[in-house]
Amino acid sequence: MDKEIYGRYEIIDAHSHIFPEKIAETATVSIGHFYDIPMDSCGISDKLLESGRKINVKRYLVCSTATTAHQISAINTFIGKECELHPEFYGFGTTHTDSENIEADIEQIKSLGLHGVKLHPDFQKFNADSPEAFRIYEQMEGVMPVLIHCGDARYDYSHPERIANIHKNFPGLTIFAAHLGGYQQWDIAENYLTGLDNVWFDISSSLAFISPEKAVHMIKKYGVERCFFGSDFPMWNHEEEFERFLALGFTEDENRRILAENFKEATGL
Ligand SMILES: [Zn+2]
Repeated sequence: MDKEIYGRYEIIDAHSHIFPEKIAETATVSIGHFYDIPMDSCGISDKLLESGRKINVKRYLVCSTATTAHQISAINTFIGKECELHPEFYGFGTTHTDSENIEADIEQIKSLGLHGVKLHPDFQKFNADSPEAFRIYEQMEGVMPVLIHCGDARYDYSHPERIANIHKNFPGLTIFAAHLGGYQQWDIAENYLTGLDNVWFDISSSLAFISPEKAVHMIKKYGVERCFFGSDFPMWNHEEEFERFLALGFTEDENRRILAENFKEATGL
């Protein structure tokens, strides 16, 4: 590709993962197994920055999911520290439905200067619209956004209908619905998640699986002004995701919105 285009846009990566160095390799491998996708890289900060630099990414939403409640505090501390070290990072913390004190988790996230919470119902094994999960949203509504993994044809935890139910019960909660609202369940996602206030979408880990026509259709249906570019690093590297994105053929203005402006609008960044 003509590399000149890499400098033309301001780019924010709205969905990327980092892990503490000593577990990065195993964490990356186990995600690869979970999704049966060979990981492009290993989820450590330096690798993320190296990959993003190739397309001139300016900021990264970084997160890491606690698969058990006892990991919460350490992961939040880790994300907070990485954000201090790397001003490019915009950190989201973690909590868990098994947490004994979700209010304290949210307080920790705020005190570390993090900006939201990432949830992954399929890894964390809870139904996204269950009473246990509602305990989390209650603390977050009107306070900070939730980035939530959506959709997996093999599991029901993060079914797009459940994501729509979160919105119905917490209309004031800002939801960033990952993977165009439903990984591997894009038709279902479109059905449940179109036209909802306060719901935004990242387009990560989607473009490799659906046709450009389908992606354009979905982005337009949700609203070009509601969608964010994201890599889901280390699932994909930035160059390949950016190329897939540019191949959608949006206008310059639409590209600018999806690549950075929408995210800034949603977060006040
Ligand atoms: Zn993710």
